[in-house]
This record gives sequence, structure tokens and C-alpha cells, in this order.
Amino acid sequence: MTKKLEHEYIAHTERPALTWDEQGQPYSTEYDDVYYSTTDALAETRFVFLDKNNLAARWPHLTHQQTFTVCETGFGAGLNFLATWQLWRSTRPSGRMHFISFEKHPLNSAQIAKALNRWPQFAALSEQLCALYPPSSAPGFHHITLDEGQVQLTLYFGDAKTGLEQLVLAHGAINKIENRSSCIGDKQQLVDAWYFDGFTPAKNPSIWQPCIFTLAAELSKSTTTFATFTSARSVRDAIENAGFKWQKVPGFGLKREMLFGTFEQHPFAQVDPNKAPTTAHRSYRKRNGVQHSWHLQTANSEHQPPKTAIVIGGGLAGAHAAHALALRGVNVTLLERAPNLANGASSNLQGLVYTRLSLSGNPLSRFNMAAQLYADRFYHSHNFYTTCGEASGVLHLATSNAIEKQLRNIGEQHASTDPNPIFNWVEQQDTEQAVGVSTSTGGLFIRNSGWLNPVQLCHALTNHPRITKLFNSDAAQLQQDAHGQWFALTNDGHKLASADITVICTARDAKHLAQTAYLPMRNIRGQVSHLSSHGLSQRLHASVCGAGYIAPAQSGIHCAGASFNLHENTLDLREEDHQFNIDNLASMSKSLTFNPPLTTLDGKVGFRATTPDYFPIVGPVPIRDEFCERFAGYRKRAATPIPQTGPYYRGLYVSVGYGSRGLAYTPLATESLCHSIFGELQPIATETLLHLHPARFLFRDLTRNRI
Ligand SMILES: Cc1cc2nc3c(=O)[nH]c(=O)nc-3n(C[C@H](O)[C@H](O)[C@H](O)COP(=O)(O)OP(=O)(O)OC[C@H]3O[C@@H](n4cnc5c(N)ncnc54)[C@H](O)[C@@H]3O)c2cc1C
Repeated sequence: MTKKLEHEYIAHTERPALTWDEQGQPYSTEYDDVYYSTTDALAETRFVFLDKNNLAARWPHLTHQQTFTVCETGFGAGLNFLATWQLWRSTRPSGRMHFISFEKHPLNSAQIAKALNRWPQFAALSEQLCALYPPSSAPGFHHITLDEGQVQLTLYFGDAKTGLEQLVLAHGAINKIENRSSCIGDKQQLVDAWYFDGFTPAKNPSIWQPCIFTLAAELSKSTTTFATFTSARSVRDAIENAGFKWQKVPGFGLKREMLFGTFEQHPFAQVDPNKAPTTAHRSYRKRNGVQHSWHLQTANSEHQPPKTAIVIGGGLAGAHAAHALALRGVNVTLLERAPNLANGASSNLQGLVYTRLSLSGNPLSRFNMAAQLYADRFYHSHNFYTTCGEASGVLHLATSNAIEKQLRNIGEQHASTDPNPIFNWVEQQDTEQAVGVSTSTGGLFIRNSGWLNPVQLCHALTNHPRITKLFNSDAAQLQQDAHGQWFALTNDGHKLASADITVICTARDAKHLAQTAYLPMRNIRGQVSHLSSHGLSQRLHASVCGAGYIAPAQSGIHCAGASFNLHENTLDLREEDHQFNIDNLASMSKSLTFNPPLTTLDGKVGFRATTPDYFPIVGPVPIRDEFCERFAGYRKRAATPIPQTGPYYRGLYVSVGYGSRGLAYTPLATESLCHSIFGELQPIATETLLHLHPARFLFRDLTRNRI
């Protein structure tokens, strides 16, 4: 499905080649150009980008559910972003801002901090940005939520053209063209304002090539504006050919002229909607390996952001979904069939924010890295690490030579670009200093990661005035009326709740709802052991994972785990599982040897809902039979794309299948889900979107002639 996308993958970013002048300003030796104007860069930013896009006048008109999207080509040290963020804060609009920026040669957080030092008025914002700024060596999308989610920053570390293509492909702007007759046009949350920035066209022509503006046009609507500091002829022509109408005005300071304007017309607007996509589309879709459209939904002219939502399931997935929707102004009814939150797999005392990390370049390892980085940022920025756990670091032990190689690689890569890297390789002899006890092997230490109490986290996430929790509420059926309203009903038809949209977060029990019954998941039983701490284990001040895992003791108890039982479904605690957990800890460190009486040892049993490809299932729910009918052609010719969008229940979404990684996967997966629900540009790579997509199994099964 996404093989070709993998060719586009780069294992690490390109480092910036720069020097610093006497004022502490960066200068690119590669492009032989300044990052900022040497006179008054902030005034220029405001003059060119903020004023000419008319932001201060446009923002007060936003409704509380609208997102204003700014897209910038060239993040540099983030001055444009900080100036925009500061203006947003002082304007206090009721909506949200999503700022997307591309950077091929990302500075690291120390360099960003140094460059922004020149503007003391931004000290607080700069500090927040730098604290959450991603490792500069990690390519791809990085999403950062600020101001309680009211401001979002998506950084793409890599080539701007590739990043823009990803946005177009993931979002389905193609929808605008292929289904023009039913396109949602201006209601879709495309880009509202473009900042065409970067080193000058003469010094870095690649960021000003015509395809950049063609892609920008595909993400634009009739109210979209743009501004750029240059008025170079080649740029003007490219902008005009892409469908933007420009005006030339005197530039800032000594610069003679600059351009700004609006998006006038989609360059493909004249295309017959019944015909196949244009050559331009075909070529970059082909190049990116995303030639299919099954993941896209047919646009709906009635599309409105939801005001109300039902979330079914009060575990990590449901709590994250409810939280994210509430922050977007949606009134949520959370239905949980148990008498309280976090009753299923999310009921442990401690869980590690953990994924299997490697640079091996397969889609799962890329998702793991993106999810790990986002989860740690998310739990920090919302203070969950202080209220529901501890970000005291996690040591990933090298449990085999192959894993050691992978983990060392990550540590070395990050150490080579960041002076204070998030990931550090720790030799075996140094592990005691890193985590408090000496471990059997070295490992990769993630300094800003940690453990969380999932029960407390579910409570904290759902503690919001827009969330109503209904317990003892078993949603056995879902129905939609002619107006599109969803109803959750009990087995005997009693109405539990109604809302504009429904998000199913019931782990493997999604199988009991008719609309999601076919989703392939199986339960894997697991048991954690509650071990009383002892003199040596009390020295543990960070979490360790290897064959098993353990976190620093809370109230004298370590919650250590976890066993894997594939074909068992008993909820009873088992002595052999306790022994399994204890043996694993002993193999990780002599200091983590425990000898409790197994017969009375406490613990917890749960079931991990696991998918065949280990990705969770997150996104819109396909209408199975219609999907199979529409894409029946794949049974005969799997490789020939069928240029049609998929049939999906309008307003029905699912977020399940988190396996052993609920704490690390739910933040990013939920963020992507909300971007889908609101039609916003995605904060994740297209390949990840397709790997999370609920319809992926139907598509694969059709192409393999299994259904
Ligand atoms: C032993 C063990 C150890 C683990 N350790 C870790 C760890 O260290 N780190 C980590 O990240 N992950 C860990 N996990 C995995 C993690 O717990 C799961 O990925 C996560 O809890 C899944 O959350 P969920 O919301 O999808 O499912 P659940 O927590 O199972 O929540 C589903 C909820 O839906 C409710 N529900 C179901 N059907 C209905 C219905 N029809 N109507 C209303 N409500 C319904 C259920 O009652 C339940 O509360 C562990 C799992 C186990 C079993």
C-alpha cells in the first residue's frame, strides 16, 4: 500500500551549516544568506506576514469551533511563529490556530533559543517552544500543542515539497477536484494564510519552485491569503500560475517590493469532475505510492463541525477522545458500562509511556518514534506527568545484539545533533547513575519520558465541564436518524445518549457493535504484579524496560509487568504469571530481585486489544458492504487504482486496538482522529494515516481476494 512512500523516507534530517555573528545571529553558510533581516527582523515579520495576511482583523470573526491555519515554508528559528503566536494571544480569538511549517535543515533547540535571545519580549514563548521542540535529527511530522491545545504547531522536518504533498494526500484535497459537484470547498479547513518564506530565491531556488505554489493552491480556498518578502519575477509568475492573485507593494525597510494577495481560483477548477485526476495529481500520487482514494470520504455540502459527541468507553482511548473533543468545544457524553472509569486494560497502577524504538525505517517504527515523541510532549504540556505520574526517564534495555545496535544508533544520531538530546545511549557501567540500579545491559535512556497511573490519567483527562460521564451505560446498538444524529441504545432499545458524532473506544468490544463487528482484533491476556519495594529497588529513580518493566515505587509498591497469554481469558491472578514477571526483572538487574510469597501477591489482570499489524485502528468507520461493492474491482486487479472515495458512516469514528502501547499511542492517534473529524490538515504522515485507517483491512482483504 505505501511501499513507495518508504523510498521518500530519510533516516535523519540534514543539519544546517551555519555560523553566528557578533550579535548572536545565525548565518547560513550553505545558502550564504541571513536567517533574518539584520535591521529589524521582528518588525519585518509583522509587516510582511502578519499585517499583509490581515490576521488581527480576521481572527475576531472565528467561531469557537473554527481553526485558523497558517502554513509557512521555512521555519528557521521560529521568529514568524512566535510573532504569530504572540499576536494570537493578544487578540484572544475564540477559535484555534494551527501553524504548519516546513524546515529542511532544522536548528536544534539550543540554536533556536540562542537565535531568539535577541527578542526578550518572546522569552516566555521561546522557553515553552524550546522545551517542547522535537529532536532536530528526527525527520517527518512533529506536532506540538500549546496553550491547552488552542495553539498547535506542526513542524515537518524535511523537504517542503514532500511535506506539502503529504498534506495534500492525507487530507484528500484531491476530493475537491474529483468530486467537485459535491465538494465542501470553503467549509473544509484548508490553509487560511500562507507565509512564503525562506532564503532568497536566488540562493535557495528549490523552496520557490512552481510546484510549491501548485501544492499550496491545492490547500487553499477562496478566503486564503498569502504574503512573501520577495517580488522576484519567477516567484510572481509561479504564484500567479498556481491561481493566486498578487499585489506588489513597497517592501520592508530597504527592500524595494514585496507580494501579497489572495487565492482566486483553483488551477484545476475547470476539470470535468467525472474525469480521472489530472496529470499533476496522478504523477505525485504515483510517486508517493498513494494512488488509491479509498481512505477519502466523499465531501458533504452539509458538513459542519460537530457540537455534540458520544464517546463509548472510559479507558485511555475514550478519555483521550473526550478530552480532545472537549478542548475543541464539543459537548461530550462519555458512556462507560462499568461503574467507573478505566475498568478494562487501563486499570493498572502504573504504566510506562513506551514504544519499541528503532531507525529501521519501516512504517511501524516510524509511527512508534512519532507517537513516543508526541506522547511525552503531550503529557508534559498538559501537566499530566506531574499530576498522574512522573517524567523521571525510561531506560530501554538492549535485550539482544540487534536491539543494541538499533538503540545505539538512535542515541548516537541524537547526540550528534543536539547538545542536550532527549535520547541518550547509556553504557552498562553507567546505568546505575542513570536509573539508580545497575542493569544487566546498557540501553537507551529517554530523559523526558516516564510512567503514568492510567486510572488517574483517565480521571484527569475527563475532568472537563464539557464532558458528562454516564456509568453503568452499556451501549449495545448505534443508530443514525435521517438528520444524521447518532443514538446509543442499550440492548433492549433504551436510549442512552444522542449526538452529532460517535467515537467507539471500546477496545475489542467494538466487535459487539454492528458497524465495527468485522474489525480484526484479538485479546491478549496480561498480568502485572504489585511488588513491595526493598532497600535496593527503592534506589530506582527512573523506569526500566527490557524483558519486563518496572517503575519507581509509589507508596512502597512497584507495579511490574507484564505477562503475555495468547489464548487465555481468565481474570484470576496466576502464580506462574507473577513468577514470569519476577524472573524478567531479575534478568534485567540483580537489584530488582524479589521473593514475595506468590500465593498472596497482589496484581491485576487485563486484556490488550491487539490488531494483526500492531497499528491501532483510528478514523472513520467504513460501511463494510458498500465498501466491498464499490471496490470489488480490487479482487481482480489489485494494483489498478479505483479512483473513487470510500463509503463511510457520516459522523461515526473508532479508536481501538492499542495493544500494549495505550499510553504512548493514544495522544497522537487521538490528535489525528480529531483532525479528521474537523476536516483539519493532518499532523501525521500519509503512510501513518493509512496504517491507522479502519478501512485498511477491507482494502487489503479485497486485494488478496479474501473477502
Ligand atoms: C497487563 C497489562 C499491562 C500493560 N502495560 C502497559 C504499559 O506499561 N504501557 C502502556 O502504554 N500500555 C500498557 N498496557 C496496554 C494499555 O493498558 C492499553 O493499550 C490501554 O489501556 C487500552 O485502552 P482502551 O481505552 O483502548 O481500552 P480499555 O482500557 O479496555 O477501555 C475500554 C473501555 O470500554 C468499556 N466498554 C466496552 N464496551 C462498552 C460498551 N458497549 N458500552 C460502554 N462501555 C464499554 C470497557 O468497560 C472499558 O472501560 C498494558 C495492558 C495490560 C493488559
